[in-house]
Amino acid sequence: MTIHDLLSPTGSDHDEALFAPGKPTLSYKQLYDNVIQLSAALNSFGIGRGDRVAMVMGNGPETVVTFLAVAISATAAPLNPNYKKEEFAYYYEDTKARALITLPGSAELAREAMTEDMALIEATPQEDGTLSFELIKGQREPRPTELAAPEDVAMILHTSGTTGAPKRVPLRHSNIVASANNIKSTYNLTKDDTGLCVMPLFHIHGIIASTLSTLAAGGKLVCPPGFSALEFWSWVDTYKPTWYSAVPTMHQTLLARAESNKDIIEANPFRFIRSSSSPLPPVILERMEEVFKAPVLEAYGMSEACHQMASNPLPPAQRKPGSVGIGFGVEVGIMDEEGNLLENGELGEVVVKGPNIFSGYEENPEANAEAFANGWFRTGDQGFKDEDGYLSLTGRFKEIINRGGEKISPIEVDDVLLRHPAVSEAIAFAVPSKVYGEDIHAAVVLKGDADEKELRAHCSAQLADFKVPRRFHIVDEIPRGATSKIQRVNLAELLGIS
Ligand code: ATP
Ligand code: MG
Repeated sequence: MTIHDLLSPTGSDHDEALFAPGKPTLSYKQLYDNVIQLSAALNSFGIGRGDRVAMVMGNGPETVVTFLAVAISATAAPLNPNYKKEEFAYYYEDTKARALITLPGSAELAREAMTEDMALIEATPQEDGTLSFELIKGQREPRPTELAAPEDVAMILHTSGTTGAPKRVPLRHSNIVASANNIKSTYNLTKDDTGLCVMPLFHIHGIIASTLSTLAAGGKLVCPPGFSALEFWSWVDTYKPTWYSAVPTMHQTLLARAESNKDIIEANPFRFIRSSSSPLPPVILERMEEVFKAPVLEAYGMSEACHQMASNPLPPAQRKPGSVGIGFGVEVGIMDEEGNLLENGELGEVVVKGPNIFSGYEENPEANAEAFANGWFRTGDQGFKDEDGYLSLTGRFKEIINRGGEKISPIEVDDVLLRHPAVSEAIAFAVPSKVYGEDIHAAVVLKGDADEKELRAHCSAQLADFKVPRRFHIVDEIPRGATSKIQRVNLAELLGIS
């Protein structure tokens, strides 16, 4: 199947599809017709199958429509609109972008970074909420109108670069459709659901988990201009979403504003809340369920898998705080270094298999040689399955702290620290040590009173001595590298500890 098949009218094509504050609503029929028309426009500009088109747009219905149109006729390369000029230039070259699409009057730096041979297209919103594509420069020999085939690359992304240089991940239509359908069935999404998209649309989480899974179910998608803790509850009040998916940091910001929005929360309970992309400390999950009065389902995703690999199931099935759940349409295994699959309860590398998994990094034979073993994709994450087959992640192989041979999972230490009432954020990390090779420190953001002595006593009461951070760095915010994810492996360097 292709993304275009996923959208094909099914009889409910006059149902509403896309909503956004202050913008006209688009029906499924309008969306489908517009996307087909825009893909033909791209062909007429001389852009088609095999061409990479950089998209630099914030969140909004225009971005969804543009992504769909580019994906079904060429290859979409969504880029973070906050990049600087040099970063745009790097990503254009790396993805071999032949064109840039953006909104009129926006993305100045992305435009400046364009090379001579790139075409520039503006996606112009029309009064009825549909889009038209205007070619500003770079007309090429027109191509015949042609839609993508299932094995064509619909989207090219980069990994977040948490553990090294970002890797280029080509995702085929068949991978993307499989993943959207997996997510739809995990949460029983139907046309009666309304999803609220707060995740950036230049990440796999936003494009697949929030957007395509909803469209695959024929549901309604609310697409505001990006996450805002200030406006979130007014969107909930207006659109009554049945669910949303976000990263733990966003859930925590929403928790902080829950008290003043109590009435809206009570009047509009979510069917479920989904959390993915980094570990959700059990203590936060428990607080969310108490305050939001909805089941919180933690899921496990990565770019190479078109996002979802596992999730906690909906009630009445059991959800387990601290676990990322079970595979839906994805086989999840645990493997040792020699490539043997391990039993439940045994610790090893998480490996996955399924139609949503990509076929390999682009032009990166070294990474590919490490990434695949006996038909499985090696995630680089360490974990184990419990007696019911629920997966728990214990860290990334590159982040496991090795203190003189004692392996420490930093996630476990983070969770203990977060249970202290004065702690709002905590990240344990490795520092070089003459005695042990590596030792453990922690960076802590406080929301109340505590000092190093107090934090040490708190950890000592719950952790074996070797896991207790030698030092606690109390900071105003956890330093982040080029991407928004916390780079645990670089934290010592970012904090100037050698
Ligand atoms: P790079 O591969 O370049 O180092 P990255 O792995 O951070 O970057 P992504 O594909 O964005 O790039 O992130 C996938 C990773 O995010 C997973 O391999 C896993 O380590 C982490 N992750 C995702 N969901 C969860 C979760 N629920 N709990 C813990 N970790 C998670
Ligand atoms: Mg990765």
